[in-house]
Amino acid sequence: MATLGNPQNTIEIIKKYNFIFQKKFGQNFLIDTHVLDKIISAAGITKEDVVLEIGPGIGTMTQYLCESAREVIAVEIDKHLIPILEETLSAYNNITIINDDILKVDINKIVNEKNNGKPIKVVANLPYYITTPIIMGLFESRVPIENITVMVQKEVADRMQVGPGTKDYGALSLAVQYYAKPYIVANVPPNCFMPRPNVGSAVIRLTKHEERPVEVIDEKLMFQIIRASFNQRRKTLVNGLNNSPEIQLSKDIIAEAIIELGVPENIRGEALTLEQFAGLSNIILSKIK
Ligand code: SAM
Repeated sequence: MATLGNPQNTIEIIKKYNFIFQKKFGQNFLIDTHVLDKIISAAGITKEDVVLEIGPGIGTMTQYLCESAREVIAVEIDKHLIPILEETLSAYNNITIINDDILKVDINKIVNEKNNGKPIKVVANLPYYITTPIIMGLFESRVPIENITVMVQKEVADRMQVGPGTKDYGALSLAVQYYAKPYIVANVPPNCFMPRPNVGSAVIRLTKHEERPVEVIDEKLMFQIIRASFNQRRKTLVNGLNNSPEIQLSKDIIAEAIIELGVPENIRGEALTLEQFAGLSNIILSKIK
């Protein structure tokens, strides 16, 4: 039975082990059972699933995962949490705890070993200081994943979900949407955590696309173009790309490509859809090859 998701039991275990919260590890533990239920149900976990949990903390969500999944692998950086996890998860035989930095773990190897290379699910109440590297790392390393259901800073969830023409739209929106379909499951206020974070949070589910939503010949070039366009948001796309140190293209080529794409020459990058960025990168590639 899951037992930790409330303030009393969390305080009790923390006191028992004299655990000291480490700000540098983004430690804010969940103490609300409704939120935990929502995360598990949004991830759609079944007894067939192998789940990777990033940052189990004292094992609050891990208990829920062990109850609903076939197998759970939890990667926790803080060595002081390992004896606590050994106690709080002692009732389960479907858990593997790895004491390491998630950014250094070979997740492809874990998926091969634990699920014969078939897609796993990722669930986490993420440490906010490394949300983007964790999520982009999972996508870019081509780990077989069905979906990623994570708690992130509310503002970051909004940025992942929005489309062109909004202030939150940017390189993160495009990168996430290239790999997955985002859906905000719930907004979560600070009082659902111990200690309370000083920002609002949200649970977001990213369902990996089975096929890429757009055709891109050179992904690296497309992302360079995207980054360059948003580095100088106020500038037109032509000037943004022309001023980028990452892309060495003449202004004429950029202008020609934008016209060929069929959008106004003075358009700003923030107005382009993912499909248009893909199209623009393919046109530029054809001009520089
Ligand atoms: N899952 C727990 C919960 O919901 O109560 C804890 C979530 S807390 C926001 C983030 C957790 O990630 C902490 O336990 C922290 O120690 C761990 N963590 C931070 N950086 C990490 C990293 N690079 N690799 C693995 N775990 C990390």
